[in-house]
Amino acid sequence: MLMPRRLLPISVAIGVALVTIGSCVDARAQAPRDARGFRNPDPIFERPSFWRWKWQELTGGVPAEPPGGWNIPSMRTDPAALAAETTAAMTWIGHATVLVHIAGKNILFDPIFSDYVAPPFGPRRVPPLPIAIDELPTIDVVMISHNHYDHLDEASVRRLAARPQGGPIFLVPLGLRAWFLERGIERVQEFDWWQSTRQGPLKITFVPANHWSRRTLTDTNETLWGGWVVEGDGLRLIHTGDTAYSAVFREIGKRFGGFDMAFIPIGAYSPRWYMGYVHVDVVEAEEIRVDLNAKRAIGIHWGTYSPLANEPLDEPPRELARVRGALGLTPDQFDVMKIGETRPLRSPD
Ligand code: ZN
Ligand code: ZN
Repeated sequence: MLMPRRLLPISVAIGVALVTIGSCVDARAQAPRDARGFRNPDPIFERPSFWRWKWQELTGGVPAEPPGGWNIPSMRTDPAALAAETTAAMTWIGHATVLVHIAGKNILFDPIFSDYVAPPFGPRRVPPLPIAIDELPTIDVVMISHNHYDHLDEASVRRLAARPQGGPIFLVPLGLRAWFLERGIERVQEFDWWQSTRQGPLKITFVPANHWSRRTLTDTNETLWGGWVVEGDGLRLIHTGDTAYSAVFREIGKRFGGFDMAFIPIGAYSPRWYMGYVHVDVVEAEEIRVDLNAKRAIGIHWGTYSPLANEPLDEPPRELARVRGALGLTPDQFDVMKIGETRPLRSPD
């Protein structure tokens, strides 16, 4: 663990200080912003050079796929089962794409169904896509965490919006509404941190994360990033989007009074000198679960596209098993699913 861990006490102190100030003037209602665009909740998080990391990859290489291929458990999703779903359920479609059935609604986080991230030269899909967009049940709400190609996939958004049974409403971070309007998609609402909306039986809130955004060479941090909290049917869930560790998760846990389920990224954590500022590793993912006061978590953002970062594509679940063993956790508390797998959202007990 390099920089983030040494910086942690300072960032926690700053986070607490900000929360204290915020409670007086309610500055927490808005994401911080300056001339360089949106900023993180922990101001100490200055992302190192992306290009230095790319240079290191170019000169040092990325982990090669082993002769037998990566070990990524995956299965075909059963479209008929999804269409007939009557109880709260979650399906991991791969990467950060999670389909949730809750209170009779189907909601989808960060949909990417494409074979490549940022075609034609981006990372490619490794296990096969478990279900096509056309096979999905009617999708009511789509939530986008931030403007990176692996979370906002243009082809997937266009196809979801153009479905014959009607497109979903898209909930997006501040600054992204224009991107949808430019593509003729008008059912879109944008959100600042802590802003909420009601969508039928669901209450949905956009919450902070420590990350960044960029789609082109000139739009760094011009659109906001974050996670989504969904409440309904007696359940409270969070999809954190992409994030580094931050004291803000303790604040989110406190404000909402804990979660039944958290979808937290556990992949794309290497090299730590760069990724520590934008993505958690598995130990930090578990710290976030604890900070959020989440009874259960599923690790996402791994095993789907390669190359995305410098750890082996199938390492995150092994790392999660090691962390669980070291901390005495059960798989029910923090687990991974097969790509394409559906599970009940409520705890079995
Ligand atoms: Zn990202
Ligand atoms: Zn990502």
